[in-house]
Amino acid sequence: MTSVINNAPALVQKRNLVTAIPGPKSAELMVRRKAAVSDGVGGTMPVFVAAAGGSVVLDVDGNTFIDLGSGIAVTTVGNSAPAVVEAVQDQVALFTHTCFMVTPYEGYVAVCEQLNELTPGNHPKKSALFNSGAEAVENAIKIARSFTKRQAVVAFEHGYHGRTNLTMALTAKSMPYKHNFGPFAPEIYRMPMSYPFHDNSSGIQIAETAIHRMEKEIGAKEIAAIIIEPIQGEGGFIVPAPGFLTALSKFAKDNGIIFIADEIQTGFCRTGAWFASEHEGLVPDMITTAKGLAGGLPLAAVTGRADIMDSVHVGGLGGTYGGNPIACAAALAAIYEMKSNDLIKRASQLESIFNNRLSAMQKKFTSIGEVRGRGAMIAIELVKSDGTPDADLTSKMSKFCHLNGVIVLTAGTYSNVIRFLPPLTITDELLNEGLDILELAFTSVT
Ligand SMILES: *Cc1c(COP(=O)(O)O)cnc(C)c1O
Repeated sequence: MTSVINNAPALVQKRNLVTAIPGPKSAELMVRRKAAVSDGVGGTMPVFVAAAGGSVVLDVDGNTFIDLGSGIAVTTVGNSAPAVVEAVQDQVALFTHTCFMVTPYEGYVAVCEQLNELTPGNHPKKSALFNSGAEAVENAIKIARSFTKRQAVVAFEHGYHGRTNLTMALTAKSMPYKHNFGPFAPEIYRMPMSYPFHDNSSGIQIAETAIHRMEKEIGAKEIAAIIIEPIQGEGGFIVPAPGFLTALSKFAKDNGIIFIADEIQTGFCRTGAWFASEHEGLVPDMITTAKGLAGGLPLAAVTGRADIMDSVHVGGLGGTYGGNPIACAAALAAIYEMKSNDLIKRASQLESIFNNRLSAMQKKFTSIGEVRGRGAMIAIELVKSDGTPDADLTSKMSKFCHLNGVIVLTAGTYSNVIRFLPPLTITDELLNEGLDILELAFTSVT
């Protein structure tokens, strides 16, 4: 699995701009995109990609960008990681698809075995595979309802769980995710989230409020599932105060409610652990994964207590493409890379680089209200002098980075968070160069 059969030349891991951004070829493609692609599909970067490798993206005009976004936390093992490329090439030549429900194959089973072993808890577990994060979340809710014979589902302020009808209902933010797209699925209830930078409360206090409201407004025995991201992703990398998650998990356990950790963004070494739940000693009943799982191929999973996962009638779960053999081969290679390169440790090393650089910047630039996150999932929240969110500065800052060769993403209910999700294989030099550009953005934009 380690030998390299990759025809693409390895890309030099260095930022290199050779045209104005966007260059002429990207500009031309942007005109075609505008004519052919729905305006409803969002866009972050003004350039089109020709190739990507490791932690850089090469555009069609020959510009090389430092990738601090990993295609939204997906290319954790690096873009086109050689082991992933080889596994995909081998599998695509053997068979592309049979449908696991029609003619099963080993790769699907092997991915489920890995998931059952790597997710928190030593209890018997089982998994099922799907195509996207939203699809995994939908299925987790289906399974929880089927097991409990209850209907209500609790989600949280600032939460993000996807864009399908049920997952839009679970997602908190209206614009752009829900605006004009209702009506939404019923029996979804939203509870307060611990957001230390804004609420000045302990995790226990916020959990008590949420639990009181669940008891009074829904009824504990009506609730099928509580679903929460252990660190919120699209919400702005919100790390709840200590005790919040454990109090909710205990409430769930005491009342026969399925506790689902949505680790689609936080999973697979991203936060300096296989799963972010581990930082709080949480053992979720069910866990959803996707993004970092398969080295860039579309794959998602629900993993949970075997008794819960087996409670669904035969044929109740599935889908034509779920657990596609090529995506499974990629996942096995990506997991192998995570283990053999100790990417958990690497995420912690990246965390210290981020924290050193960003706290130094925070001392110089008062617009940085908070530096937060874990591992290589770190964000800065930008505020005005009166402490209120500064979405305008956030958008100018990220645009400056884009035009100067660094891919960064924004997030947050108030659109005032810049988030960093580099591949865990990024070099110290490349990360530091990316952060130099961020620092330059502060001096140039503010
Ligand atoms: C991205 C994300 C989803 C949705 O995944 P898709 O593959 O985009 O459907 C769900 N939950 C969380 C926490 C996510 O970050």
